[in-house]
Amino acid sequence: MSLNILVVGAGICGPAFATLLQRSNPKHKITILERFDSLRTSGQQVDLKTQAPHILRKMGLMETIKAHCVNETGLEMVDSTDKQVSYFPATAAGERRPGLTSEHEIMRGDMVQVLYDASVERNAALKPQIGSQGGILYRFGQTITALDQHPDEVEVTFSDGKKQGFDLVVAADGQGSRTRRLAFGEEVSDAAFKSLGIHGAYFSIPRIESEGSLARGHLAPGRRMIMTRTSDRPVTGVLLFAMEQSNRLRASYKEPQEAQKQAFSETFKDIEWQTDRLIEGLRNSEDFYAHELGQIKMGQLSTGRVVLLGDAGYCPSPFTGLGTNLCLMGAYILAGELARHGSDVKGALKSYEDEMRPFIDDCQRFSTGSLGLFFPYSRLGVWSMGKLMWAVSKVNGLFPQFQKVDNHDGCIREYPELKLKG
Ligand SMILES: Cc1cc2nc3c(=O)[nH]c(=O)nc-3n(C[C@H](O)[C@H](O)[C@H](O)COP(=O)(O)OP(=O)(O)OC[C@H]3O[C@@H](n4cnc5c(N)ncnc54)[C@H](O)[C@@H]3O)c2cc1C
Repeated sequence: MSLNILVVGAGICGPAFATLLQRSNPKHKITILERFDSLRTSGQQVDLKTQAPHILRKMGLMETIKAHCVNETGLEMVDSTDKQVSYFPATAAGERRPGLTSEHEIMRGDMVQVLYDASVERNAALKPQIGSQGGILYRFGQTITALDQHPDEVEVTFSDGKKQGFDLVVAADGQGSRTRRLAFGEEVSDAAFKSLGIHGAYFSIPRIESEGSLARGHLAPGRRMIMTRTSDRPVTGVLLFAMEQSNRLRASYKEPQEAQKQAFSETFKDIEWQTDRLIEGLRNSEDFYAHELGQIKMGQLSTGRVVLLGDAGYCPSPFTGLGTNLCLMGAYILAGELARHGSDVKGALKSYEDEMRPFIDDCQRFSTGSLGLFFPYSRLGVWSMGKLMWAVSKVNGLFPQFQKVDNHDGCIREYPELKLKG
């Protein structure tokens, strides 16, 4: 039996899920809704580790992904005079070592584009076979405004006022998911967001000659951290993180982007490393993105015929480096369970929840208590942390929260119903 499915969000897991599911039955009708007018390709580097390369290989996309991977060779922490205080080389697949860079790192926008292209190409190839009976349809510049659950379908109201019934609605609309709020209610949705008390801004600035393949990190007093990542690209990605004591940054998210830029400029204006370059770059950036870092912890991943996928259901926070991995696992398992259960959508959603829980718990296991160590308040604290990081860079294995427990590595459940390659 073919299903009529709405996926809200054309980020990473929305297109991945649609492509995977379509393999099991090309006659499924899958509509992907994106609130922006085109693909949202901003963002900095995302890591592909643990299960992500296995899934991409099964999808036949790993070679394309590898061709887009950036060549970052490690991380150096520097002091305000630009002198290296510690160095962490890139971590090879399967290696357990503290560090920022993993073997496969790709710009988020490239990843989104590869997955979108794969879904469109597959759809075009299948068109002669399925005609108008199925396929993947993208609708940009639209969102949903209401969901009405009935025993056999969900009635969705779109932002253009039209209504349509679906067998299943997949919320793939990220950490702040509107679909989650509509389906589970504001109260449950708000309570699911567990803030790390850290605010992050990401943007690109022109590269300077002295920047090479190493990512660079700097800790500044006042609980601030700055990273630059250039690798082999013509621009430099900047990541600003602040453990905020006031409410200035959080309040800015309700305002237009210029106000967010202003709030981050004020917060970082007195750092003593690359200050003018970073602040000017921030003001002029065209791909600025800022948010409060946190985890999404939902008691259930579905209600009726609405199911949460990726950051919408279980964002582990960018500090784990596992968001993309977990969302691809979700896309693979949800597609697999739907393929395995046929018309029994509710049975598939129950199995998806059972299969995902160990992976979610694993990826969300994170020592938030020790996070403060990376955000010292005083100059003495910054100096001490520098010494500690130097010691760790020399002695492997002291920072357990950075050695992700990847005991599920490679043990991906097989779904022959998905008709994948590997
Ligand atoms: C702009 C942006 C930049 C990011 N940058 C980084 C980064 O630098 N490093 C990092 O580790 N992670 C970053 N992330 C998060 C990262 O993409 C996710 O953690 C992870 O890959 C899981 O992806 P996802 O598909 O679940 O969600 P996302 O990648 O967040 O995608 C969600 C998609 O849903 C769309 N959407 C949101 N609300 C609606 C709505 N109401 N209706 C329709 N569509 C909607 C969004 O525009 C987006 O295209 C970024 C996310 C975004 C959106």
